[in-house]
Amino acid sequence: MARERDSVVSVIVQKFGGTSVANAEKIRHAAMRAVEAKRRGFDVVVVVSARGHKTDELIELAHGITKNPRPREMDMLLSTGEQESVALMAMAVHELGEDAISLTGAQIGVLTDTTHTRARIVSISTERMKELLAAGNIVIAAGFQGVDSAMNITTLGRGGSDTTATALAAVLNAELCEIYTDVEGVFTTDPRVVASARKVERISYDEMLELASLGAGVMHSRSIEFAKKFSVPLRVRPSYSDGPGTLIAPETDEANSIVTGVAFVRNEALITLVGLPDQPGVMSSLFTALSGAKIPVDMVVQNVGREGFANVSFTVAEDELPAAMRVVSAAAETLKVQSVQQTTELSKVSIVGHGMQTHTGVAARMFQILADSGINIRVVTTSEIKISVLIDRTRCSDAVEAVHNGFGLNQPTRTLPDIGRSAVRIGSSRSVDAEVVADIVSRLEGMESILVSDVSADTQQSRITVTGLPDDPGVARDVFAAVGEGGVLVDMIIQNVARDGKASISFTVPGEDLERSLQLLRPFSDAHKETLVTSDRHICKLTIAGIGLRSHTDVGRRVFRTLATHHINVQMLNTSEIKLSIVIAAVEAERALKILRSEFGLP
Ligand code: ASP
Ligand code: MG
Repeated sequence: MARERDSVVSVIVQKFGGTSVANAEKIRHAAMRAVEAKRRGFDVVVVVSARGHKTDELIELAHGITKNPRPREMDMLLSTGEQESVALMAMAVHELGEDAISLTGAQIGVLTDTTHTRARIVSISTERMKELLAAGNIVIAAGFQGVDSAMNITTLGRGGSDTTATALAAVLNAELCEIYTDVEGVFTTDPRVVASARKVERISYDEMLELASLGAGVMHSRSIEFAKKFSVPLRVRPSYSDGPGTLIAPETDEANSIVTGVAFVRNEALITLVGLPDQPGVMSSLFTALSGAKIPVDMVVQNVGREGFANVSFTVAEDELPAAMRVVSAAAETLKVQSVQQTTELSKVSIVGHGMQTHTGVAARMFQILADSGINIRVVTTSEIKISVLIDRTRCSDAVEAVHNGFGLNQPTRTLPDIGRSAVRIGSSRSVDAEVVADIVSRLEGMESILVSDVSADTQQSRITVTGLPDDPGVARDVFAAVGEGGVLVDMIIQNVARDGKASISFTVPGEDLERSLQLLRPFSDAHKETLVTSDRHICKLTIAGIGLRSHTDVGRRVFRTLATHHINVQMLNTSEIKLSIVIAAVEAERALKILRSEFGLP
C-alpha cells in the first residue's frame, strides 16, 4: 500500500548492538546503513549499544574499586559506553555527507522510574527527535539509558538497548524497527544442537516470546513484549551481510508450518508438592512465598486432584533449587502437605507454532516422535501455541533433534512475502493515524507496568483424565493417537509427575466432542485394564494472557490470591511464557472472570 509521503514521512529505527559497532570500520558500516535508509526516503533514528564488551569492562572497573558500587554511580558509569558510541556514530554519518545529531537518554526525554541499574521506562517525549528529523537529521540515540524525575541517569538493565529501540519505534510510530546483530536471524532451533536448523523468515510476537530460550540470544524478551503491545514490526538482521534476517510481526493466517520452532531449557529442576489439600487458597500461599523470595518459577503443573488432595509441580532453574526448596519446605509445613519431592537432571523441550491452534494431532505427533526415540515424558504442559515436555537431561539433544526434524523444520519452507524491505511495501501493518499516535503516547505511562493483557473464560470445553497409566515411553502417544485419530482438537494438556510408577494425563476437548472422545479412548482403556478414564463436562478454562508473566512472578500470586479470596478452587493449572491456564468449575466462570478482570484493571 503506497503511503502519503507528503503528509507523513515514514520513520525507521535501526538498532546496532555492541558487536555491530565494535570498531571504526564497523561503525562506518552501520552509518552507511542509516544513510542508505535516509536516502531511500525514511526519517532515520539509530539506536546504539556500547561498543563490544565495553559494558562488561566498565563493570569490572567498578568492581576493581569497590565490591558494592552504589547503583546511582553504576548507572552514571555504564551510560558512558553508549554515549561514546552515539558520538562516534554521528561523526561517521557526517563523514558520509548527511546531518546527524547524537542524543543521550536524557536529551531524548526517556523518563524512567528511580530503580537504578534496571529502571523501567515511564514516558518518552518525541518532540525533540521529531524536530531534529524534520530538519533533516539522522537522530543517533543512546540505548539502554534514561533519566529519572530528579535528573539522575538510569539504565534499563543488561541488553536494554533493544528496549530503547522498540520503545522509540513505538512512540515515533515507526514503520519498522531493524535490530542489527551478529546472527543471521531467528532459527528453528539452536544450530549448535541441531545442524539442520534453518533460519525462520517470519515469526509472530507470541511465538517469539514462547520460544524465549531460543530468542534470548537474539533479543531481549522485554523488547518483544513492547513491540507486541504497540504492533511494531521488528526485523532482526545480520550487520555483517545483506541477509534479510527474520521478521517478527503480528501473526498472519497463512502459517508457514504447523510448528515454527523447537526450544529447550537444559537445566531444569522439578519440585513436587504431594498431597496438597485440594481447596481454595493453597496455590495462593505457595505463590506468595515464592514470589516473596523472588524465585522465578517456570513450568507450573497441577493435575486434577483425587480424594481431596492435589499434586502441584513446578520447575526452577537448577541453581535456584536450594533457595526454592527452602521456601517450599517452609510453606509445606503450614499447608500440611504430605511430602515435598525434588527431581534434578531434567530438561524442558517445547514446540511452538500458531498452526497447532487449528491442526489436530500435533500433540500426538510430538509424543509419537519422542516414543519412537524411546524418550520418556515426565511432565506435559501446553498453551494455545506451545507444547512443553519435561524429559531426562541425558536425552535433551536427541529429543530436540528428533522433534525438530520430525516436524519437518529441517526442510526448506516456502519463502513468505518480505514486508520489511522497502519504503513502499511496508506500512500496511501499522496505521499512522494521529489518534493512534496520541493513544500510544498516552499509554506509555504504563508501558512497562501492564502485566495482564487479557483474561478470558471458555466454558465450551470438557475435561478428560486418564489415571493409572504406566510411566513408560509411548503412553502419551497412545492416549493422543486414539483421540487424534477421531480428529478431535485437544486443547490444554497436563501430565504431572508419576506417583508410585503411575502417571495421569488430563486434557480438554470441545464439549461437543466429549462423548466421541471417550468412545475413541475405549479400546485403549480396554487394553490397559489398570487405567481409569474420568471426565467432567462442566469445566471452565480461564486464560490469563500477559506479557512478562515470567519476569513478573507476581501475576501468579495475584491470580491465586484473587481466586482464593472468592473461594474458587483451582482444579488444573498450566503455564507457558505468556499464558496461565486454569481449570475451575463451570459455574464459577462468570464470577472468576469478573474478579480477575477487575484485579488487573481490565474493562
Ligand atoms: N550496553 C548494554 C549491555 O551491554 C545495553 C545493550 O547492549 O543493550 O547490556
Ligand atoms: Mg545487546
